[in-house]
Amino acid sequence: MTKIYLGPAGIPLSTEKKSTVNGIKKVKELGLNAMEIEFVRGVNMSEKGAIEAGEIASQLGVRLSAHAPYYINLCAEEKEKMEASKNRIFDTAHRLELMGGDTIAIHTAFYGKRTPEECYEIIKQNMLEITDRMKDSGIKRVKLGVETMAKETAFGTLEEVVKLSKEVPRVVPYIDWAHTFARLGGKINYGEVLDYVIKETGITHINSHFESLVFRKGKYVDVHKSIDDNAPPFEPLAKELIKRDISITLICESPLLEEDALKMKKVLEDLGYSLS
Ligand SMILES: [Zn+2]
Repeated sequence: MTKIYLGPAGIPLSTEKKSTVNGIKKVKELGLNAMEIEFVRGVNMSEKGAIEAGEIASQLGVRLSAHAPYYINLCAEEKEKMEASKNRIFDTAHRLELMGGDTIAIHTAFYGKRTPEECYEIIKQNMLEITDRMKDSGIKRVKLGVETMAKETAFGTLEEVVKLSKEVPRVVPYIDWAHTFARLGGKINYGEVLDYVIKETGITHINSHFESLVFRKGKYVDVHKSIDDNAPPFEPLAKELIKRDISITLICESPLLEEDALKMKKVLEDLGYSLS
C-alpha cells in the first residue's frame, strides 16, 4: 500500500503565532501530515524545543524531517569551512533525533576546482566521520539525506547520490524532483527514477522535495516557484506513486508552501488516494 506524507518546507505561512509547535499544529489542521524543520540559516533550536516539537508531532501524526543549513560544503578547500560544515550536519541530525524525525536534507558540496570523482571521495570520508560521530553520540534513528541538486557546479546528480547511499551506511538519497528535472535538462521520467533509487539502494522510505523552477536563458535554474508552473508537473509523479507500493515524504518547497501542498493533496485525492 502506498503511503504518502505531505507537507510544507517550514512553518505554514498561515500560522498565526509562528513557532515550530504552532506550525506542526497548523499542518495537522490543514489536513497535511508532514513538515520539514528549516535550519537553512543555522541550527537555532534548543534541545528542549526539539523535544517539545517532537512530542506534538507524534501526538498529531505529523512526520518530521529537517533541512540542514545552506552554508555547507563538504568539499571546501579550507579546513575550517569543512569542519564547520560537518558540525552543521551533525547539529541538524542531533536536533531531529530529539524530535523523533527521520531524515535531514543536505546540500552537500560544490566541486570547486576538483573533479566530481575527487569530490566524491572527500565527501565520502567526511560522511563516514559524521556517521561515526552520530553513532558515538547515540543518534540512532536519523539518516543523512544527500539532496539531488540542479546546478551543474554542485555535487548531486542522481547517480552520485545513489552511489554514496550505497557506500555509506545511514546516508540515503534525498530526491528534489525539480532539481533532478533541471539537472536532466528539463525532463524527468518519474517511474524510472523511483525504480532506480529503490532497486539500487533498497530504501523503504523515500524523502523528497517538490516545487517548480524558473526557466531562464534556455534552462531551468534553481529559483523555486509555485507548482502551477508545471516545471516539473506534479500529476504524473502522483500517478507513479499511487501505482507503486511505496512510502514517501513529499515536502513542498514552493514559495506558497501549504497552499501548493494542498493543491498536491487535491491531485492525489482526484486520483483516488487519501492522505489519512
Ligand atoms: Zn534543499
